[in-house]
Amino acid sequence: MSLLETDGLTKQFGGLVAVDDVSFAVERGETRAVIGPNGAGKSTLINCITGALEPTAGTVQFDGEDITDTSPHETVQTGISKSFQTASIFPNMTVRENVEIAALAAEHGSFRFNFLKRLSDFSAVHETADEMMDAVDLLGDAGVEAGSLPYGDKRRLEIAIALASEPELLLMDEPTAGMSPDETADTVDLVERLQEELGLTILIVEHDMEIIFRIADRILVLNRGQVIADGTPEEVQESEQVQEAYLGG
Ligand code: ADP
Ligand code: MG
Repeated sequence: MSLLETDGLTKQFGGLVAVDDVSFAVERGETRAVIGPNGAGKSTLINCITGALEPTAGTVQFDGEDITDTSPHETVQTGISKSFQTASIFPNMTVRENVEIAALAAEHGSFRFNFLKRLSDFSAVHETADEMMDAVDLLGDAGVEAGSLPYGDKRRLEIAIALASEPELLLMDEPTAGMSPDETADTVDLVERLQEELGLTILIVEHDMEIIFRIADRILVLNRGQVIADGTPEEVQESEQVQEAYLGG
């Protein structure tokens, strides 16, 4: 059984079919990439998986369970986490507080009365936060206000926040967008290291082809919402439809 599987997943915005009958699978332990030109439906596909968007048709299965209609919060509890959600960082809180809140929220449902007061009681939460800050090399900045971190560090904090729920599947939507070449290289190294150390399965949307062909085990190629290729980097590279889509043919 695949870890994640979509069947006929479709999302329409009015007359526009942003994701059109997409069926694909993610196997345990693999780095699975989704590529395609701008507007191909990559982010919409990811958002249908997390539950941030409600699919028009089709299903999403995770670990054999139907999660098509689950909310983003329930999805996190089943073991799927997405990095680089907008506004995932609380800028006035420390790095540690940001990671601990994410760990607590994953464990306990949602924000509750008394939530922050109880924060200090959770030794497991402290430990998880330590582990995840260490994994992204931010342990030394645990007490720093998150809003004052440099850009690259903020993006790594976002990864730690996503990891705080201890997901089995990590979704990343263009993690290197806006990064310098150095930051990009560091982030790619980090993603590879996390996968090995934490035994993560990764589903990544990325526009940088060099990165994708280096790290992906298999690549799904979308164009105008439809799957035009799905296979190993070599298979995808040879696809005529892929070459046409990218050369604008
Ligand atoms: P990608 O991530 O591959 O660049 P998106 O998934 O963001 O593409 O968008 C796919 C298509 O759906 C685009 O044509 C986009 O304009 C449209 N779209 C995305 N989100 C919405 C929305 N909330 N409402 C209407 N159209 C949308
Ligand atoms: Mg996108």
